[in-house]
This record gives sequence, C-alpha cells and structure tokens, in this order.
Amino acid sequence: MSAPETNMPHVARRMLSAKAEQFTESVIREMTRLALRHKAVNLSQGFPDFPAPNEVKEAARQAIADDINQYAITWGAKALRDAIVEKFRATQGITIDPEREITVCCGSTEAMMSSMMAIINPGDEIVVFEPFYENYGPDAILSGATPRFVKLRPLDWTYEERELAAAFGPHTKAIILNTPNNPTGKVFARGELEFIRDLCLRWNSYCITDEIYEHILYDGAEHLTMARIDGMRDHTIVINGMSKTYSVTGWRVGWAIAPAQVTQEIRKVHDFLTVGAAAPLQQAGALALKLPQTYYDNLAASYAQKRARLLHILESSGFTVYKPRGAYYIMTDISRFHFDESKYPAETRDVRFAKYLVEHIGVACVPGSSFYNDPQDGASQVRFTFCKKEETFAAAEARLAKLHL
Ligand code: GLN
Repeated sequence: MSAPETNMPHVARRMLSAKAEQFTESVIREMTRLALRHKAVNLSQGFPDFPAPNEVKEAARQAIADDINQYAITWGAKALRDAIVEKFRATQGITIDPEREITVCCGSTEAMMSSMMAIINPGDEIVVFEPFYENYGPDAILSGATPRFVKLRPLDWTYEERELAAAFGPHTKAIILNTPNNPTGKVFARGELEFIRDLCLRWNSYCITDEIYEHILYDGAEHLTMARIDGMRDHTIVINGMSKTYSVTGWRVGWAIAPAQVTQEIRKVHDFLTVGAAAPLQQAGALALKLPQTYYDNLAASYAQKRARLLHILESSGFTVYKPRGAYYIMTDISRFHFDESKYPAETRDVRFAKYLVEHIGVACVPGSSFYNDPQDGASQVRFTFCKKEETFAAAEARLAKLHL
C-alpha cells in the first residue's frame, strides 16, 4: 500500500512564528491563574473587584435592549467618538476631529498594538522606559520594532537626561510613555515631558502615550498629556480607554487619538485585526464619558484611601514601599525578606518570592522581573495592586501577618 499523501517526506521548516516564540505568556495574567488555583487573595492583576458604576451598567443593558447589537462603524460608534472629543477638550483643552483623529479599539491593548503596527517599519527603534507595563515588550516584537530601554529609578522614578538622549537616534520611530505609570505610579511632570518633546522633535519621532490611568492621581498630582506640549500635537498618539476610569476592564473598549494621516493607517490595521469593539458597550461608553466631575473626584478620593490602606499593610509586613503618585499599583522592594527559596531553584528571586507568597502565604503579586528587559533588574521587586474592596484588603492583611522577615 502506498503511503497517504499526508505522509510525504516532510520539508524541514520552522513550524511556529519566530516572533511569537520570542515572548512568554503574560506573567500578570498567569499570576491571576495561580491565585485562583491556590485560593489566594489576588493583588496581582490590575482589575477592580468591586462593582462598576450602576448608570454605566444600565446604559449597556439598555443598549442591548435597544438592539444596538450589530457592528458599529469599524473605527468607533459616532456617539462614543463625539464623547471622546468632548472629554479630551474639557480635560486637556485639545480639540480633535472625531471623523479623522480617533480609532475606537478592543481595549487600549489593541489601540497600542494597532498604533505600533501602523507606524513601524523594519529597522525602526522605539524607546521604552523601564520598568514598563509588560505588553510593550511583545508589542515591539510583533510590530517589528527594536526596543531601546531607559531606566526610571527610585525614589521618584525619573530618568537620567543623558541616558534618554543617548537612546534616541536616526532610527528612533517612537518613544512609549505611560503616565500615570504602571508599575511605578510615577506621574511625568511638564519639564520631563518637554525634555522628551525636544528629543522627539530633534529626531522626528512619535510619542505614543498610554494615559489609561489619567484620573487616578494623588497628592495634587496633575495629568498632562504629551499632545498638549507645544509642538507635539502632530507627533503624539494618545492611547486611552474605559477600563480603569469606569472599572470595566472586561469590556475591552479603548481608543487611539492620532493625527489624521496616522489615524488612517491605525484604522486599517484595527479593521482587519478586530473589525470593531462591542457596539452596545461603546454606546454605554458615550454615557460614561459624560459623567459629572464629581464621579472623577470620588474615584480619585476612593483610590487615595485604598492606596493608604495597602501602603500600611505592606509596610507593616516588612516591604519597602514606593509610594505611587498615580495609577493603582505599589512597587515594593523585597530585599529584607528571608523565605524558603530552595523549592524554586531556576527562577530569579522576585519570581521565587511571588510563588512562595501565592502558595504559602496566600497572596498574589506580580514579580518585578516581568517589568524589565533583563529579569535581574527586577529581582528584588514585586508589584501589588490596590483596586480592591475592603474585604480583600482585610484578607490580605491577615495572611501577610504570617510573613516573616
Ligand atoms: N493593566 C493591568 C495590570 O497591569 C491589567 C493587565 C492585563 O491583564 N490586561 O495588571
């Protein structure tokens, strides 16, 4: 009997994508799975465990009842784009064109990816501050950009001007900025943005600025978008979304605001990646973005209390904490802890600690190495999130009391 065609001698080839093989699964999302497996208190992934605002949920229910259940316009429902324009004008004083400068995407994650795919060519470099939100690594690999990392160092997580200037050059297509910052809580000040602006203009580079935590600010910190810095309007791509501001991380509604010719390309990439974000949830977004100022004031005030609560718990448990000025994470240093590391031989210390914590103490955090290019740079850090309700803090507090220095 002759061999079936499928058993023909095979051709030697790389069967999987060399790009995909370069990065691992998200460590943040893996920590959530570990937390579930070990029934641990989950202070790893940044998603609220308290309810979303009632009026926003009601608007989504209503949109479904009203049969807003088919595709929205691929680059975003008109009502949501109009609301984005109005909010950006009210908060940052910038007027954008809803027809030519906005693309609504499936979360800011897709907005970032589509934006990078829209501007990156082979040989392009991007400057990335580290520690960085872990998505930016795979974003760079998938879009084909070569990342150049520049350190933000405690206590105030600022950069060395000399180092930043040295990272820019003729191949620099963009710098990725995230302010307020995940994981450090840094809020970039005007002077820092202007220094970055000067480099962007000198080298003709874009700034892609992830502003998803814009309303989560403490101690009088102010959010300033790079798009507002003189000369940067045509060089800036603003990434934002509903997830953090309205506590709906599972809705996946985000957007990119970019100059018209850039938006044209972002829209095409977005269209063929996902067609569009969920239509009824975009409709609810149009209402959410019109909530009164008191909503944002209450959000910031509530997070200020949560920040104080978790800072206290972590400090009492022996962590060295870096107090954030924005966003809802606390970076900590774990150098002072002694724990049984022998079970996790192949890992960096932060990963050993995070595994020990989730398995033996019952609290999940994110190992610091997942925010650095070289894992050793994050080996003495772990990140906790405080977008959680009081019962969660109380449970974490009780469990962390078992932790010894
Ligand atoms: N931004 C959140 C974090 O850093 C959630 C990330 C995610 O899983 N999409 O934890």
